[in-house]
Amino acid sequence: MSYPELLIDREKLIHNVRTILKMGQDSNVQIHFVTKCLSGWRPFLEVLHEAGVEYFADSRVENLREMSDLGLSRMMLRVPMISNANDVVRYSDLSLNSDLSAIEALSDAALALDREHGVILMVEMGDLREGFMPDEMFDVASRVLNLRGVWLAGIGANFNCYGGVIPEERQLEELSAMAEDIRRRFNVPLPIVSGGNTGSLYMLSENRLPLGITHLRVGEGYLLGIETSFRKRLHDLFTDVFTVRAEIVELRRKPSVPTGLIGPNSFNEIPVFEDRGQIWRAILAIGEQDVRCDTLEPKDSTIAFLGASSDYMMLDITHAVRDFKVGDVLEFSPDYAALLRASTSPYVEKRLV
Ligand SMILES: *Cc1c(COP(=O)(O)O)cnc(C)c1O
Repeated sequence: MSYPELLIDREKLIHNVRTILKMGQDSNVQIHFVTKCLSGWRPFLEVLHEAGVEYFADSRVENLREMSDLGLSRMMLRVPMISNANDVVRYSDLSLNSDLSAIEALSDAALALDREHGVILMVEMGDLREGFMPDEMFDVASRVLNLRGVWLAGIGANFNCYGGVIPEERQLEELSAMAEDIRRRFNVPLPIVSGGNTGSLYMLSENRLPLGITHLRVGEGYLLGIETSFRKRLHDLFTDVFTVRAEIVELRRKPSVPTGLIGPNSFNEIPVFEDRGQIWRAILAIGEQDVRCDTLEPKDSTIAFLGASSDYMMLDITHAVRDFKVGDVLEFSPDYAALLRASTSPYVEKRLV
């Protein structure tokens, strides 16, 4: 066993996945399970598949390659780089797109590799990340329909990301109407109308998802058990599938305020300190190179975060319930940002328990 480690509770994960699968089935909404937060870690992908997931989505071709033999469909989430078109077509059967020249590159790659590839056109609906402007859609759809290498699988929108825009019925009804217009104008089935990510789950769970939204892309929801528009827990989903564990390497009573002339810290920020007098401080062998420390929540709520550098995290354990010693291991609940970094760091060992 080596620390830091990222523990994944298999049974809780399976419960979350099955609950979200059922939510989709009950409303006839297809869900691609987004796996980018676990960096294509094969044992994790296998648990999802075992839980019943057939539709996988990821933002990296390296991760999609890891799941080539799993499930019925693999969707590329990040709009493809032209330089990467071959791998996108090789490792995914659907991709989200917002640029015509990239779609042309996918079409050429699909013809060369003799593969089917479905294109989903992203529409800008306020969050200001990827997407064509709404008034471009007819023209783009018509051009994609003229390409021989790809088929027009659908349209979609993204929310809750750059702009933090919460998807509401209003935008999703607009998206659904846009899909209907494209179907009528070009006489195509356009099966996928992708109404967002975990931030749209609150509508699905309240049976308010507008008619005509046929698809969602869900990551954080099944991982952390919450919807991300209002950050409420979803049904009976577990919010503690993941645990980060790290070891104490120093434990000492020290002042809470540094002495000397204060300049920038290791990340070139001028730190500010609250004088709590002498405190019991634990230094843990985990740092910014392993995880995002300030959003890692100690499971013992009496423990307070003080600061972190590349390799160390400092905690105030003065009020902790347990009596700690050097060598003890502390447990934390990661949020999305902490989980993403922990999973991506080669220094953090992932373990299914
Ligand atoms: C990451 C991502 C998702 C998943 O978002 P969650 O909030 O984790 O559900 C969906 N769509 C796109 C385009 C993404 O990049």
